[in-house]
Amino acid sequence: MIARLPRLLVLGTGGTIAGSAQSATGGSYAAGELRLDQLLNDLSGLGLEAELVAKPIAQIGSQDMGWDVWDVLHREILAALNDSQMDGILVTHGTDTAEETAYLLDLTLPADKPVVLVGAMRPAGAVGADGMRNFANAVRVASDPDACGRGPLLVMGDAVFAAKDVRKAATSNIDAFKGYPRGPIARVTPSTLDWFGGATRVGEPARYGWPETPPRVAILTAGAGMDAKPVEALLGIGCKGIVLAGMGQGNAPGCVLDALSEAVKSGVPVVRSARVDEGLVDRNVEVDDDRYGFVAGRALGPAKARVLLMVLIANGITDATAIQAAFDRG
Ligand code: ASP
Repeated sequence: MIARLPRLLVLGTGGTIAGSAQSATGGSYAAGELRLDQLLNDLSGLGLEAELVAKPIAQIGSQDMGWDVWDVLHREILAALNDSQMDGILVTHGTDTAEETAYLLDLTLPADKPVVLVGAMRPAGAVGADGMRNFANAVRVASDPDACGRGPLLVMGDAVFAAKDVRKAATSNIDAFKGYPRGPIARVTPSTLDWFGGATRVGEPARYGWPETPPRVAILTAGAGMDAKPVEALLGIGCKGIVLAGMGQGNAPGCVLDALSEAVKSGVPVVRSARVDEGLVDRNVEVDDDRYGFVAGRALGPAKARVLLMVLIANGITDATAIQAAFDRG
């Protein structure tokens, strides 16, 4: 029972939620321009029922998100998880790669306090800007003890997604995010929050160690008429793992599969995912994974399959059977 207002650490990384529009009706803007204290100052009149402790980490568009910022983010969140005075963590983040950050944190953090990412599709100053609403919703989620044990969450609009499910599915629509296999796991407004089911990971420790030396893992998108040269190029630059963003159920031309099989033989794990919007990629459907030595990416799309493969390789898990077990779990 919290007798005081929930105390939330707000880690700012930039994105459109910290973007400023050149005009209220024009299309151009720069992501990550507003400082976190400016953003929180704009929010201060909203009557949010939480004490917010601001800590800026970066001011970038999330297309530039990577291990330098992830390292700091992970460290700061871990410290807040161990701080008995902190009840939850909010991360303001660009929407382009929010799913990758959320999933990376999901794999590498214990699930014992709310960790909530929030972004916006429209910059401050644009007519119909969504940042303030999304932030107020995220505060509601991060303040709720029932948000514990669900892993990192992403709040966009009035929807709450689990890290494992969520992905950006539209370039500019205000409701740009979808979940697969699960849609939103809760609906939120600044004053209400309805979970659609209970938390299943209460008390769960971090699943994997933090990648101190992240391996180079590339996504190769399959296209009709392609040849095997891109596979050779990826091996040539020292990729330690390859994620195929295949056609349909993770398919690719035969010559590409053969080249990928050679990669597996040389010790480079290959995961098949799909370039289509959603659906499972299962083992041995059209591609004989057993013969080629591939891993089926199951519910993870290419971006998140790459994150999981990086984490696994960094943790010394390179055997196809063990990698498959991790993808089956998701
Ligand atoms: N490119 C921006 C970013 O990911 C888009 C956004 O935030 O919506 O930072």
